[in-house]
Amino acid sequence: MQTTLIASLCGLLGDAHVLQDGDLSAWEVDWRKRYRGKALAVVRPSSTEQVAQVVKLCAAQGVSIVPQGGNTGLVGGGVPNASGTQVVLSLQRMNRVRAIDADNLTMTVDAGCVLHAVQEAARAAGFWFPLSLAAEGSCTIGGNLATNAGGTQVLRFGNARDLCLGLEVVTPHGEVWHGLSGLRKDNTGYDLRHLMIGSEGTLGIITGATLKLAPQPAASMTAMATCADLPACVRLLSLARQRLGDTLTGFEVMNDVSLALVAQHMPQLRQPLPAAPWSVLLELSDQQSAEHARTQFEALLEAALEQQVIDDAAVAESVAQSRTMWHLRESIPLAQAEEGLNIKHDVSLPVSRIAAFCAAAQAQLTREVPGSRLVNFGHLGDGNLHFNVQAPSGSDAAAFLKREESRVNTIVYDCVGAHGGSISAEHGVGALKVGELAARKDATALSMMRAVKAALDPQGLMNPGRVIQIL
Ligand SMILES: Cc1cc2nc3c(=O)[nH]c(=O)nc-3n(C[C@H](O)[C@H](O)[C@H](O)COP(=O)(O)OP(=O)(O)OC[C@H]3O[C@@H](n4cnc5c(N)ncnc54)[C@H](O)[C@@H]3O)c2cc1C
Repeated sequence: MQTTLIASLCGLLGDAHVLQDGDLSAWEVDWRKRYRGKALAVVRPSSTEQVAQVVKLCAAQGVSIVPQGGNTGLVGGGVPNASGTQVVLSLQRMNRVRAIDADNLTMTVDAGCVLHAVQEAARAAGFWFPLSLAAEGSCTIGGNLATNAGGTQVLRFGNARDLCLGLEVVTPHGEVWHGLSGLRKDNTGYDLRHLMIGSEGTLGIITGATLKLAPQPAASMTAMATCADLPACVRLLSLARQRLGDTLTGFEVMNDVSLALVAQHMPQLRQPLPAAPWSVLLELSDQQSAEHARTQFEALLEAALEQQVIDDAAVAESVAQSRTMWHLRESIPLAQAEEGLNIKHDVSLPVSRIAAFCAAAQAQLTREVPGSRLVNFGHLGDGNLHFNVQAPSGSDAAAFLKREESRVNTIVYDCVGAHGGSISAEHGVGALKVGELAARKDATALSMMRAVKAALDPQGLMNPGRVIQIL
């Protein structure tokens, strides 16, 4: 049966785009190297029509499909399981910018376009596509939408969801939904676009998207400041919002352990301020001029110093300095990976409760898992922290994970629940958090999610075992 399927797939796509032999680790192993699967085949269609045909062929044989973009996801949702029976459908060959509509401020792209290429195409046309994250050189817009990615500009522009007006999707039956409308108003029933966004490949395959563009800012400026504690960072956020309004486009925090790991593993990156308990990275995007941006920033930082909200500050003097500041922030996940396996938590909370959450979770971790190192950083402006727990310095990280992961997760997620937060802010559920979601999400919401999955994918062939358990 599988031989017939492979032969049909080769007939449809050509042998070169149905991979079965050799090193397939680029598609079978996730970015964190925590999930190592085995695919029946990796297929690489080049058009929506080919995607639809692949889905029909697989559905006819009851073979499940794992859609994959850049394979940079952090929750193990984009790689096959170990059974050797799943087809990985890679969108990487679907990488065309289809159209830019300047008057409508939209662009329409294939789902396999790499995020950085989308940003560059927008820039070349005189616009700004503001979705931005450290994996932008490899992740695809289809993967960003499938995971409803966040990143560094959510504060001003929202998640990937908020930047998308239309979708083209191949359904689990192999039909094509042509939803690339580009409309900002369309109240014609259920919003299927929002159902597909964040569904992590479990309800269909995104093949194209119409995205919102913004005017390019006249100037962008970056600054760093240091604070004595997290409540001071929250006060700085309030002050920055009050003074800068919508021109504040980034507000990231990093604790001392995060930047110490960057210093250790990337010593070539110069840190502009002396080490402090917390560092804040601020970005301002101004529609007037660089001078206006600098005046605004300096006034904010002076006020923050006067009110003793911050201890020190530096405004980037050049594009290169600004890049270095962002590079420091974006290097934290890589520095963590260099340091060894760690227990990641991508959580969100109301900004007003973040400091209390951190204090409570940290106190319990210190008591119950002594020596563990808290690598705490993230998008404070969105209430999103990466609250990661690294093994004690010099210890065996794999053994630490095996011994402590479940206990650490319970401590952190119980604390998140007690403070009104979510166990997945922007990375999604994937394979990593299926059990946690089933245990912690509202029971009625879970049964509605199961009903949607059963209605759209009755054979359960789209990325099974991810996001939602079907009983
Ligand atoms: C260094 C680093 C930094 C990161 N920073 C951030 C960050 O700041 N914010 C953030 O939100 N995320 C971040 N991420 C994780 C983020 O989710 C991914 O980078 C990105 O959104 C996934 O895109 P991808 O193309 O790599 O998808 P993949 O990893 O290939 O897939 C992710 C999920 O989407 C599904 N999928 C992929 N393409 C499609 C499609 N076309 N149709 C249907 N389903 C599909 C897959 O089945 C899988 O479930 C980071 C990752 C790394 C490695």
